[in-house]
Amino acid sequence: MRLSQMLFVTLREDPAEAEIPSHKLLLRAGYIRRIAPGGFAYLPFMWRVLQKVSQIVREEMNAAGAQELLLPQLQPAELWKESGRWDTYTKAEGIMFSLIDRQDREMGLGPTHEEVITTIARDMIRSYRQLPLNLYQIQTKFRDEIRPRFGLMRGREFIMKDAYSFDADEAGLKQTYQKMHQAYTNILQRSGLKFRAVDADSGAIGGSGSQEFMVLAEAGEDEILYTDDGKYAANVEKAISSPPAAEASPFKKYEKRETPGTDTIEKMCAFLKCSPTAVVKNVLYQAVYDNGRVVLVLVSIRGDQDVNEVKLQNELTKLADQYGGNTVIALTVPDEAAQQKWAAKPLPLGYMAPDLADDYIKPAKPQPVGYKAAETIAPKFLRLVDQTAVDLKNFATGADEAGYHVVGANWGAEFQLPKLVVDVRKAKAGDRALHDSTQTLKTARGIEIGHIFQLGTKYSKAMGATYTNEQGEEIPLVMGCYGVGVSRLAQAAVEQSYDKDGIIWPVAIAPYQAIVVIPDIAKPDQVEAGEKLYTELNQAGIETLLDDRNERAGVKFKDADLIGIPYRIVTGKALKDGKVEVVKRATKGSQEIPLEKVVPTLKEWVKEG
Ligand code: ATP
Ligand code: MG
Repeated sequence: MRLSQMLFVTLREDPAEAEIPSHKLLLRAGYIRRIAPGGFAYLPFMWRVLQKVSQIVREEMNAAGAQELLLPQLQPAELWKESGRWDTYTKAEGIMFSLIDRQDREMGLGPTHEEVITTIARDMIRSYRQLPLNLYQIQTKFRDEIRPRFGLMRGREFIMKDAYSFDADEAGLKQTYQKMHQAYTNILQRSGLKFRAVDADSGAIGGSGSQEFMVLAEAGEDEILYTDDGKYAANVEKAISSPPAAEASPFKKYEKRETPGTDTIEKMCAFLKCSPTAVVKNVLYQAVYDNGRVVLVLVSIRGDQDVNEVKLQNELTKLADQYGGNTVIALTVPDEAAQQKWAAKPLPLGYMAPDLADDYIKPAKPQPVGYKAAETIAPKFLRLVDQTAVDLKNFATGADEAGYHVVGANWGAEFQLPKLVVDVRKAKAGDRALHDSTQTLKTARGIEIGHIFQLGTKYSKAMGATYTNEQGEEIPLVMGCYGVGVSRLAQAAVEQSYDKDGIIWPVAIAPYQAIVVIPDIAKPDQVEAGEKLYTELNQAGIETLLDDRNERAGVKFKDADLIGIPYRIVTGKALKDGKVEVVKRATKGSQEIPLEKVVPTLKEWVKEG
């Protein structure tokens, strides 16, 4: 392609709308343009990159025995009602765009395709002889993200490869899952990215495994905890570890103490001269179930620890039955406005005790006949205690009165130990690893590029997708699902590889592999050599651009650096010796090579990547 004929506009200045380097560079170099919040035009260079990534994904999925298809993006609400996800996905913080068609039918734009694929499996898979099956597509997904940001990293319209597998049993699923693990490893290696596979949260739906593939980068939204021996890596949402040992409590007997102005653990410990490991901290959350039921949750945890809200949400989902719901749709620390809705009197915030009285919650008003109990607030606190707080002796905690704490308290004496003992603590860097206590957890930031997930029978059971096994019994299909953010991957590659002058594409996914720059188009020898190389390189299968624009040489070099093409060939001064200058973008290393050597040299370099 000739730059002079391309839609090609670069910007010298950083665009104000972009915060992270990869987003700035893709805008500046003319790869993308923002059309709406989280909605981008993929311009010609970007589209080539996306097609390269897609092709790598496609080849690895095919090699793993998966089959490509294409599913509709416009999906009927009925399917989502069958799986029980319509309300959670379209109401409150749900991320599904929904609409009503001219026949008054409810439809949604696919944020994911479990429902669609399961209905196909239900209709078409009858017998164990048809199994296993793994079906995938590469397509645009729609999600009304609460905070679209960072360009293609979190769009509201983005390209995903999603695959869904169907096996006869758990053992089959495990094998398919392993194959996908390998395929994802290959995809990321071939794309030239540094990454880590980490244990991930599977939500409350199943204990079965799920892993995320994280591209390592400072700008990543996710935190990873790992050990140096390479044996453990997990998303912080899921990570487990052993907390540091608690220090012995300095308090000998139970008493209430005046502790003015100590509404944080730090201030309280400084005042009482104790370690935060001798404190039971009580944290209040407000959970909303999918039926509208609001539950106030009081979590007691050791003072030096924090609550992992993902783990807490999973625990609360397990209790959904008790509140007549299926899942938790929102979990927040209630702010003042939220408290006003249910608090009968001001809460002793910062000084709460594990036995904070239920009469802080307003009693339910007498209701007219036919009201829905589900839409009211549960009249009692749901009390949970984290494992870290269970064994504490003579601890300090709040006195349920502003400016006061109690010390020397014990479970079973002054406070009743909550019946529900849970693990909701957040693992953190510095904690000891569970598999080897000499290893401590380290932290890194990552961009989630892929997620592989053993779904089990959640969707097949809900939607009645069964098959007949060898014994003639009808049983639910065992499913897995596997996603790769194709557009996110492309941008993540930039986030991992750039310098002050621009993008440095890995050769495998660069829009073009080489660019021939004619420094001065008024010089016939330069033009002639440039045209010749351009034709020969393309004929030799090297995807080559020609910068034949009527611009100054300096502008052309700057643009070539900015767009990040791996190899640049300049038909300049060295022509008089029958040579051209060849520059590697990644190292800026330059050398002069004879004209006839250009094609074989570049072929060699491209092969090596
Ligand atoms: P996240 O936690 O980042 O929102 P997710 O758990 O919602 O991701 P999945 O539903 O597992 O993601 O989707 C599969 C893959 O699609 C993700 O691993 C990610 O690479 C990509 N992806 C998800 N949401 C977006 C988005 N809004 N924009 C771009 N890519 C996305
Ligand atoms: Mg998401």
